[in-house]
Amino acid sequence: MSKLCPRCRLLVLVLGRALAAVSSDGVRFGVVGICQRCVSNEAQLPKTQHAKRLLPALDRALDDPERYYCRLYPELNTAILAVGLLGHPELSERAMVALGWLHGELQGKRAVGDVCTDLF
Ligand SMILES: [Zn+2]
Repeated sequence: MSKLCPRCRLLVLVLGRALAAVSSDGVRFGVVGICQRCVSNEAQLPKTQHAKRLLPALDRALDDPERYYCRLYPELNTAILAVGLLGHPELSERAMVALGWLHGELQGKRAVGDVCTDLF
């Protein structure tokens, strides 16, 4: 099943970053994947604009995890652990499988080394 990037709402060809996220109302926790295009664009934005664009995307994903690269967890600490596993060079692929994120269109196109452990 094709999933979308919650920031640009386009099909993810290369996963650029995974974030542990909390919804703006503080109720939902999860891991959210952002595409490489958006990660590249982020680098050119001032930090304040970056947050303004990213935070609504995280809420969008946490509100509709089936549509986007998102996995909900009952606690933030579990999401932080999952992001840590995604960033580990030896465990990343297994973590992707466990999250249900490793499937046809991403195989061989992942930027595993670029998955980072930012926490918002
Ligand atoms: Zn994107």
